[in-house]
Amino acid sequence: MSKRRVPDVPPKRNYCHPSWSLAERIAYYSRPEPLTACHIWLGALVNGYGCLRYRGRYQQAHRLAWSLKNGPIPKGMVLCHRCNVRRCTNPDHLALGTRADNNADIKAARLRLADARTATAQTNPALDPGGAAIRIFVGGVEMRGRVLIEAVGLSAVNDYAASLRSTKSSRS
Ligand SMILES: [Zn+2]
Repeated sequence: MSKRRVPDVPPKRNYCHPSWSLAERIAYYSRPEPLTACHIWLGALVNGYGCLRYRGRYQQAHRLAWSLKNGPIPKGMVLCHRCNVRRCTNPDHLALGTRADNNADIKAARLRLADARTATAQTNPALDPGGAAIRIFVGGVEMRGRVLIEAVGLSAVNDYAASLRSTKSSRS
């Protein structure tokens, strides 16, 4: 009878190991969002920003991710999230700018959101009866469309409930 050979491969780790490279650690803690292409940080957060311990101190994950791709951040410059998602670590969603640029960006995003709310509220029922304009912002991406709003009467609710009852009874 042969002895069962135990492979000397270490067990699969389900946590971030200190020996991993910075790129591996950032990839481990970031999950790409298919709709917005944001890399959502799943690790620790400080003020909404992704944070990890690197070279003996806690650093912002998005700054590390950007530096990995583009080199060090010049003095006096900040990174602006073009997607307005603080926990996003996608370097393509980050742009170098001054603090004033960043503040102007934040103000513009707020104005866009307020504008979208106004546009959604102002619909013309004569042009599209039962329709309403809709603008949705998901992580800085704007989606426009129309939704049909239908009033559901009590009889419709009763019909639906009856249809549920009939499917239940036909199954048993
Ligand atoms: Zn993003």
